[in-house]
Amino acid sequence: MDKEDLNAILGTVRDFVREKVVPLELEIEADDVIPDSIIEEAAHMGLFGWALPQEFGGLGLNAYEDALLAIELGYTTPAFRSVFGTNNGIAGQVLVNYGTPAQQQDWLPRLASGEVIASFALTEPEAGSDPSGLRTRAQRAGDDYIISGSKRFITNAEASDVLVVFARTDPEAAGSKGISVFLVPTSAPGVSIGPHDRKMGQAGAWTSEIHFDGVRVPAANLIGGEEEKGFHAAMASLNKGRLHIAAICVGQAIRILDESVAYAQEAKQGGEPISRFQLVQAMLAEMYTDIAAAKAMVLASSERWDAEIDRKLGPSSSKLFASEMLARVADHGVQIQGGMGYMRESAVERFYRHARLFRIYEGTSEIQKLVIARQLFKGAHTPVLDF
Ligand SMILES: Cc1cc2nc3c(=O)[nH]c(=O)nc-3n(C[C@H](O)[C@H](O)[C@H](O)COP(=O)(O)OP(=O)(O)OC[C@H]3O[C@@H](n4cnc5c(N)ncnc54)[C@H](O)[C@@H]3O)c2cc1C
Repeated sequence: MDKEDLNAILGTVRDFVREKVVPLELEIEADDVIPDSIIEEAAHMGLFGWALPQEFGGLGLNAYEDALLAIELGYTTPAFRSVFGTNNGIAGQVLVNYGTPAQQQDWLPRLASGEVIASFALTEPEAGSDPSGLRTRAQRAGDDYIISGSKRFITNAEASDVLVVFARTDPEAAGSKGISVFLVPTSAPGVSIGPHDRKMGQAGAWTSEIHFDGVRVPAANLIGGEEEKGFHAAMASLNKGRLHIAAICVGQAIRILDESVAYAQEAKQGGEPISRFQLVQAMLAEMYTDIAAAKAMVLASSERWDAEIDRKLGPSSSKLFASEMLARVADHGVQIQGGMGYMRESAVERFYRHARLFRIYEGTSEIQKLVIARQLFKGAHTPVLDF
């Protein structure tokens, strides 16, 4: 995309986030829902399809542009970006990279416009960090598949029209082999979606359990038209998602820093603003430095993604560093506000709780470390030393 168009999008999103969404944060927290008016405006701005190709009605942003957008979106509650995050990210990218032309034509324009919501249904009770252990079964029956099993923690499930479901088509195949991926409309008989979970943070972003009880889908719903593509499709989608999540962490941390600088200049102790205390200044300086390092890392890794130089080390190390960075920044943010930082009406208290998730989903910090080490043993260290 040319720079002028990109800057116009970033500017519009920045203004929208700061002027329209930030003032609603307490309402979103209390009601556990993103208001429809905000969702409609987001659809109007093209946010349901920022990462989907232009030929299907998306904005077609590349990974670098996506990271810049994510930094803007990350300035407010991450629940806002979750509304359209699955359409662009983990669910949408499976269709973009693995869907047949007919599947793409059928679904991507509706995902990009926000007419339909898609969820990515991989995680199961005993298959989270290691999805190769998944047990959901898809059995061929004539021209159909019959799907049975359960998923948990699935973002947007309750609002979804279609699920991107990973299921085992070959029960004999070991580990990651034998896993395929299907499009399953939530209206299909046998799909039941539980009430949304009560979570620590990110109110307004919903996750639920899903049960598939003999759900019949036509073979045309097998993504890519071939069995056993599921594991690779899931991993490719998650790798790109890790860059996006890292950039969201940067946006969250920038917000916490802004809140902290403002608070330090206003709040007084002993008649002096606390910004005069060098130990408070030290916390702010560490926060700034941490954020600047994470931002540089995620942008450099996103450029290498676009240049197809590295699609594993950069995403995993960026997600690891940025999510751990956010934890440090959120902790300082609360500390700088003292007792006020522990109160429910304080923004840093909410962001402290939001932050905890980023070290868990789309691959825990431990899993990112394993991916990084595996890449180092494969001799993939050169790209990271190049930037
Ligand atoms: C709010 C939220 C939204 C989510 N959205 C989705 C979604 O939309 N779609 C979806 O499919 N999933 C989703 N998830 C699931 C999420 O991706 C998993 O929770 C995550 O991958 C961790 O899996 P787990 O919860 O099963 O934990 P486990 O895998 O059981 O991990 C427990 C602990 O063991 C550690 N561990 C596990 N394996 C290893 C290992 N080999 N070596 C070292 N340590 C290890 C982990 O790092 C962690 O500390 C969501 C989760 C949450 C909380």
